[in-house]
Order: sequence, then structure tokens, then C-alpha cells
Amino acid sequence: MNNASNTSAKALANLITEIMNRIYSRRMTTTSGGNISIKDTSGNTWITPAGVDKGELQPSDIVCIQPDGTVTGSHMPSSEYPFHKAIYDCRPDIKAIVHAHPPALVSWSITDKIPDPLAIFTTQRVCGSVGFAPYAMPGSQELGEKVAREFSKGHNIIMMENHGAVAGGADIAEAYQRFESLENCADALIGANILGKPTCLSQGEFSAFYNALKFAYPQTEQSGIDNSDENRRIEILKFVQRGCRQGLMASAAGTVSMRCDKNDFLITPANISRWALQAGDIVKISGGKCEAGKTPGRSARLHQAIYENHPDIHSIILAQPPNLMAFGISGTPFDVHTIPESLMFLKEVVLVPFMTDFGKLTEFIVNQCSVSNAMILMNNTVLTTGNSVLQAYDRLEIAEFGARSLIMSKAIGKFKPINSQQADEIRGMFP
Ligand SMILES: [Zn+2]
Repeated sequence: MNNASNTSAKALANLITEIMNRIYSRRMTTTSGGNISIKDTSGNTWITPAGVDKGELQPSDIVCIQPDGTVTGSHMPSSEYPFHKAIYDCRPDIKAIVHAHPPALVSWSITDKIPDPLAIFTTQRVCGSVGFAPYAMPGSQELGEKVAREFSKGHNIIMMENHGAVAGGADIAEAYQRFESLENCADALIGANILGKPTCLSQGEFSAFYNALKFAYPQTEQSGIDNSDENRRIEILKFVQRGCRQGLMASAAGTVSMRCDKNDFLITPANISRWALQAGDIVKISGGKCEAGKTPGRSARLHQAIYENHPDIHSIILAQPPNLMAFGISGTPFDVHTIPESLMFLKEVVLVPFMTDFGKLTEFIVNQCSVSNAMILMNNTVLTTGNSVLQAYDRLEIAEFGARSLIMSKAIGKFKPINSQQADEIRGMFP
């Protein structure tokens, strides 16, 4: 191998290790389960090894399988390599595969069901249709055939009966994003079923909102990074990274903005994985124009309208944590009268109906910002506001914890809210 291919081999091994570490730390795989592969431009497949602890995986553990079947590396390749190969053989556009047995997707897999990605707009946008491969023995040729059959229909992610899920992508970031997004959606749908009856978007509603989000901000002539906001960019980045680690945000879900001077603000970009975000990727919107050469998050016009109408709001966060989204899929009202902390930091949590008209949706939310600092936009996202990124993030966390407690309490008894006298006392002490 020459130097150039050595470098790229190292980079691929690092990338696979980084993604597996992420899956493991987000508790989407066990130490023994799950495998990831990348197909390089020479046709080699780089794959995680068999029998190595996922909690201790190192780049030097990654195995290479050449097109003629020659294996190089210090371990055996994953025993599930046959279905990776079968997918690459039938879908030349797929260059990376992520497979594991994460708990929520496995719940669907063992009940012979497919979680509907139309439950959450972003999941449908990143995953598209979801296939279902009938059971076959792990590592078998038969499993490879069954999995490949689903991918050849055009699905980019499929459920595997009594097994798990597998996602493909043009690169590893895309494959991971699909995998993570469907797991979060599967989790939210389970919560929605506990709370009541889930409602998903129609294909027509999805397409209409997809088109409504298309908007190109006029760009400023100045290019490059405006260094004057460096500290604010780092502050945003810090909370995005924390949100990913905590499971409140995901590759494809999590928009954070922060007011600068007057109505100018900084916002996370569109189309860059939140896990891989750098401070320099964050976009400045100034005088209604965006920093040259960058694309702000799809909701930037909504952020702008909120900043223009609510001078007290200095930060806005959009995210799709699964427990709050369970309320947003089932249309269940969220009661903040759980514990004092919830009453102290959250006003009324407003359920915003799904609207395909972005202008009307913006107007509705701008009006609600006076009475609510945490809203659940049905089948879409959660929105929190604050006088700082920390405060908006804290509200997101408090609301998500409360949502989880409310869902879990359904299994053990009837919810007894804090009464109005107790609530008045709390709000009187902590206005
Ligand atoms: Zn497996």
C-alpha cells in the first residue's frame, strides 16, 4: 500500500471506531452486538471485527476485506459480513452500513411491526420508507438474501425480524443518521402508544411541509467566519454536543440559536451532523441576511420572527427527544404539575397542531411565546426558549424528564398532579 491509501485506511478505521463508540455510549448496542462497515473507492470493505468488546474498540481492530475475499487485520471480520456484502452487491450507491440491536427498534422487530417514520417529519425526511426482512440465521447466506431483497426495493433502512435494524447510506454519517433517527422515532412511538393513540403524517402533509421549508436566505457579500461572535459560537457548540451525548439531540435533529445584537442571531446549520458540528459551521443571520457560503437550519425564519417579536428571548432550541415527541405523536396534553422544578421553570407546555403552511405555523408560535417557553409541535419537534442557551437547554431537559416520568407513571398508577394551591405557592416563591 502506498502512503495515500495508508492515510485513507487510517481515516476509515478511525471513522468506524468513532461511530461504534457513539452507538455504544448512546446505549444502542451491547458490547457483543452490532457492526459497521464502509466500502472504499477501491472496492475494499472495512468492517468491525468479530468478538471484540465494543466498549474498548480501537481503530487497529478494524478488518479489511478485499474484493477477492482476502482478509487483512488482527481479527476475524464480523460474522454478519455476509449481509453487508449482499447489500453492497445489490446497491452500488450504498457505501456504508450500520447495524445493531437497539432496544426500541428491537421492540418493534420482536412484535413483527415497522415503526412508521411519518410519526416525525425529520425521521421521514432522513429515512424514507422502511423495509422488513423476515428472520434468518445470523451470518447465513439466507439472511443476506432476505436483507438485500428489501434494499433492492429502494429502502435505505430495514427492520430485521427478531433481530434488529440495518441502515445504509452514501457515507457513514448518512447511514448512522438514519439508524439513530429511526431508533428515536421507534422509542417515541412506543411512548405515544402508552399515552394514547399515535397519529402519523400523511405522505401529502409530509411533502407539503417539506416544500414549505425550502427557503434560501439572501446572503451577505462578506465571506468567511466573523470572529466577533467566536464565544457565542463556542457556547452553542457546547450545548449541541451535550444534547447529542444526553440523547436530547441527534445527528439530524437539534437546532440551537442565540441572539447577538438587536435581532441578529447565530444558528446551527442545515445538513451537517450535530455530532460532527464545528464552531465555524454555525451561521450568522444579520439584518435578515445569512453569512455567505453557509446554509442555516431550516427553521431559521421562525427563529428570526421570534427574536423580532420577543426582545426578552435570547435563545431558541428545537429538538426531538423521544419522550416529549411521544406527546407530540399522540396529541396528549402535557401537564407541568408534576414536581416543583417543572412548575418553577416551565410555563404552560403548548401542543401546536401540525401545519403545512410555514407562515401560519410561525405566526401561531410567535403568539404562543408570550404564554409558553416550551412547545410541542405535533409530529415535528419541541421548541424551548430562554434568556440564554443554558436556560433554553434546561427547559428542554426538564420537559423531557417530566415527559418520561409521566409516561412511566402510566404503568404504576393514576397521575396525581400538584394542586392549584401548592402550584400558586411555588410560583409565588419562584416567580
Ligand atoms: Zn445483528
